Amino acid sequence: STANHQNPEHLNVITPAKIDWQTDDTGNMVPVSGEFGDVYFSHADGLAETRHVFLEHNQLPERLAHLAPKQCFTIAELGFGTGLNLLATWQLWRQLRETNPQLATARLHFITTEKFPIPLADLTQILALWGERAPELMAFIKPLLAEYPPLIAGCHRLSFSYDNLTVDMWLGDAAESLSKLVLDHSNQHTPCIDAWFLDGFAPSCNSTLWADSIFGQMQRLSRPHTTAATYSCAGIVKRGLREHGFQIKKVRGFGRKREMLTAIMTNAENGDTDSVNEGRDAKQETTYSTFEHTVVIGAGVSGLLTAWSLANRGITVTLLDKSAPLAGASGNPRALLAPKMTPIHHVDEHLHTIGYLHSSRLYRYLNQTAVQLHTAPVLELTGALDLLIKANIGAEQIADYPDEMATTLSHEQAQITSGLKDQDLSENLYLPQSGLVNPQALKDIILTHPLIHFQQLEVNKINETEQQVRIEGIDGNRNTVTMTADNVVICAAFESHQLDERVFDCRKIRGQLSWFIPSTEQLTNLPKIPLKYSGYCARFNAQTGDDELNPVVANKPYLLLGASFIRNDTSTDIRPEEHQISRDKLINAIPEMASVIPADTSLWQGRAGIRTQTPDYHPIVGQLANSQRIWTMSAMGAKGYALAPICAEALADMMLGSFAPLSETMLARLSPNRTRLQTPLV
Ligand code: SAM
Repeated sequence: STANHQNPEHLNVITPAKIDWQTDDTGNMVPVSGEFGDVYFSHADGLAETRHVFLEHNQLPERLAHLAPKQCFTIAELGFGTGLNLLATWQLWRQLRETNPQLATARLHFITTEKFPIPLADLTQILALWGERAPELMAFIKPLLAEYPPLIAGCHRLSFSYDNLTVDMWLGDAAESLSKLVLDHSNQHTPCIDAWFLDGFAPSCNSTLWADSIFGQMQRLSRPHTTAATYSCAGIVKRGLREHGFQIKKVRGFGRKREMLTAIMTNAENGDTDSVNEGRDAKQETTYSTFEHTVVIGAGVSGLLTAWSLANRGITVTLLDKSAPLAGASGNPRALLAPKMTPIHHVDEHLHTIGYLHSSRLYRYLNQTAVQLHTAPVLELTGALDLLIKANIGAEQIADYPDEMATTLSHEQAQITSGLKDQDLSENLYLPQSGLVNPQALKDIILTHPLIHFQQLEVNKINETEQQVRIEGIDGNRNTVTMTADNVVICAAFESHQLDERVFDCRKIRGQLSWFIPSTEQLTNLPKIPLKYSGYCARFNAQTGDDELNPVVANKPYLLLGASFIRNDTSTDIRPEEHQISRDKLINAIPEMASVIPADTSLWQGRAGIRTQTPDYHPIVGQLANSQRIWTMSAMGAKGYALAPICAEALADMMLGSFAPLSETMLARLSPNRTRLQTPLV
């Protein structure tokens, strides 16, 4: 493929691990890295070794057991490999949470790095070994494999919220990935790593994980009391740790190994060192945010997801809206989740790709919750075909992507998949993880969270003092209501600027979506999966909760057509001419639809909303200038369902002082205070 013809080192193209199976001295098959020629773990006692070296010698059983409510403990691992360390840590964490009720709101953040990630098929085979040998790990192996990301550079956040566990998998070189972790959120609470798992292959066969750049990053990201553990006692490891502020100690190794290393940070760049000799009182180790209550203003997709990310961190959220949840632009009957693509060497800093992958993963995860709650699925994973009419990426560049994320179908396959007959489909982009989001189902799940309370209030005043924020508004009975919170997040789309002038006054773009119930005959000729062109069309079945559809005909297929873009128009009436715009877009892209889609749109239904957009098309996410307690997340344009989940995670991390899943460059691009937003829009 094109990217690989050039220098892959500079193009962020991930090289998957090549797994060799070899017989070890006990006669068992073990996975060996083709790249480094070293084993990933010992077959006889790999799990026990992991527990001894990384868990016990970072004192994890005691330290995790003593976390305070809402405290987040952060582990960083160099070399994810087969994930055995994660699985062992996860198991310990669940056990501790089951026996220590005070851990109900404490969190574990596991940040791991991997330059040569193992393909899912190999990983499945490798972990099956542990499923047999240590069946207690099965409960963790299954969800890990279900969430395992496509092998694309950058940070993939996997959220196991039922266990208060967040896993950030940074694919790419470890030193580079660590350099992207942001310490300063201009907040009282700066994040830090509490424990390091140094698990590269032996220094003799892989020096990159034991390089100065790594130890330098370890020093930057640690603070007094941060610990590290490794099985290696090589001189280069001891020197590197010592020269970067760690006190090291040799202790008994596992099994036949005589020794291993533990280390504790005494000279961090990040934090004061005076208290380090006072012993390891786990409770005193980390400073962490203690705020309790946040008010989120605006219950569209941004507000809902912000509430979700905060509530999953133990924060009580009052979610306010002047009308109802999803009353604005995010309340369409369905939203197509499909990414805008970029050449793969930009992918790790490309918000649309990161956001799309994250959203698709989150919604599929929430589908399980939907099943339990008997609501409709959040994401109907249909796949989508992009006809590349507005191509920002060509076939050669699509080939650089792993097929599970993006691929090109042959003309014949594309015909079968889409059901189109006459169209030239030789240029296409097929997106297997795409599908239709059901906003109502997502909302229903989020609003069942015990820490999220919705209240109808039209906010008209926000007043920040040093201790709190006071919010004043008018409720449905025209009564004035005031409330206080530790923080406020403004998620009110184009009305955010009216609530606080420091939020950029965005461009307002009206968009109308259209739908109708096709006849049985029409249905046989309509596209079978969602199609993207200059607009998009998708069929879907009505579900319970689809009150927006008028009439709601259960289990009848509807055809959805999107959408119009009318600038500087904030009215939300339904207009026949905009039904026509969406029909025209479809017929221009797919002429054979002219005879299928009725020209008479008088029976069509529709819904119009106002999208909010910045001059640089990036959303606005972060803390407002000269404020300690007021934050915003807005300006998602037409991409709220793809961008809000990852942005909400980043925002919650910034608010609570934990590591965000986005790089410093990316957070700067989203900042409410970025220079592109300093001049008014003309
Ligand atoms: N922790 C793993 C487990 O539980 O299975 C075992 C890790 S294995 C001993 C070392 C890993 O480090 C390999 O997966 C290798 O691909 C990875 N690695 C090597 N060089 C790297 C680098 N520069 N950056 C990130 N990962 C690297």
